[in-house]
Amino acid sequence: MAYRVTYIPGDGIGPEVALAARRCLEATGVAFSWEERIAGEAAIATYGTPLPEETLQSVRDTKLAIKGPITTPIGKGFRSVNVALRKQLDLYACLRPCRSMEGVRAPFQNVDLIVVRENTEDLYAGIEFSAGSKEAAGLIKQVKTFTDQPLRDEAAISLKPISAAASERIVRFAFEHALKYGRKKVTAVHKANIMKFTDGLFMETARRVAQDYAGRIAFEDRLVDATCMQLVLRPQEFDVLVLPNLYGDILSDLCAGLVGGLGVAPGANIGEHTALFEAVHGSAPKYAGMNKVNPTAMILSGVMMLEYLGEREAAKKLEAAVRAVIREGRRVTYDLKADRNDPTAVGTSQMADAIIDKLSEQTSDFRPQTSVNPKRP
Ligand code: NAD
Repeated sequence: MAYRVTYIPGDGIGPEVALAARRCLEATGVAFSWEERIAGEAAIATYGTPLPEETLQSVRDTKLAIKGPITTPIGKGFRSVNVALRKQLDLYACLRPCRSMEGVRAPFQNVDLIVVRENTEDLYAGIEFSAGSKEAAGLIKQVKTFTDQPLRDEAAISLKPISAAASERIVRFAFEHALKYGRKKVTAVHKANIMKFTDGLFMETARRVAQDYAGRIAFEDRLVDATCMQLVLRPQEFDVLVLPNLYGDILSDLCAGLVGGLGVAPGANIGEHTALFEAVHGSAPKYAGMNKVNPTAMILSGVMMLEYLGEREAAKKLEAAVRAVIREGRRVTYDLKADRNDPTAVGTSQMADAIIDKLSEQTSDFRPQTSVNPKRP
């Protein structure tokens, strides 16, 4: 039986990298039944909204989606479709592995860490009020009755909700992931010295949950600023990082940079019953339609989807094929060449062809599983 997957091509470079990932996934021999749905700029023209109910309903039905990046206008227009999808489907855990790859020019080698980011709360939850609005004015007036802290009447306001329940859920997710994948240490990252109640609650919750894993998984907590410095000095010291939403967003890009940049950084958004796989990078509009950008991040997001489905053998084979193509360095996109103007660089689609060729070389003796494994992490 084929796995039903909602396939959302996305905006900008999305359709190109999503198609590359889809072709590579099909080449593993695992059977998929794709339900193509639109979101983002493409959806506005047809549906008048960037996130049509039909798209959301498809993900609710299939419980599995792979998605190209979607453009979010800065400071105006619609709110992020990505954030809306994560919230509406309660995809509370964002998983972003960062692993060095031979052939990728990067500031460090031997990095192998995972960023686990809380996806539903924090400043990122989108509870904000514009400067001069009556909501902001009302909040400011009320807050001034509680505190003597200086607060300008004309300030814009964002709220930072952090709850024990959401913090516990994400920290447990991080520990369970660490156990399942043989990881040794979880580091909780916060700014509890300054945000004593919000980040303080996150930190206290993490310390409490860590006790349940004592003796099996090591635990430490660190301030976010100090963590940034340690990451750019000694990233090899980290294993699994668990963070509230905003720090998770920022540090996952930082960690992607440590291993070679956004072109190679995959991701997953996981809830109790549903999962959505997408690259860390955005829609890079200036490269849209050029068949130029690196499909690796999206293909590795597909590898994560195979893992999630329990198709471990297929996941291993596809990842090995990606690594082999990058290690050889011939049929790769411009960003993986020593000289970005190297005329031998291939396009997005041709790099996917190279990975598919490698997969078929490696899989002559490979019999993929095709039955649906209901056991999910
Ligand atoms: P971006 O990740 O789209 O691109 C930044 C730069 O990174 C690009 O100009 C390019 O040089 C490089 N890059 C990105 N992907 C690459 C790839 N696959 N191969 C090679 N190089 C690559 O970031 P941005 O320009 O800040 O964002 C563009 C849009 O994407 C914005 O609207 C943003 O909101 C959105 N976005 C969406 C998602 C998502 O859908 N999950 C994530 C991040 C950003």
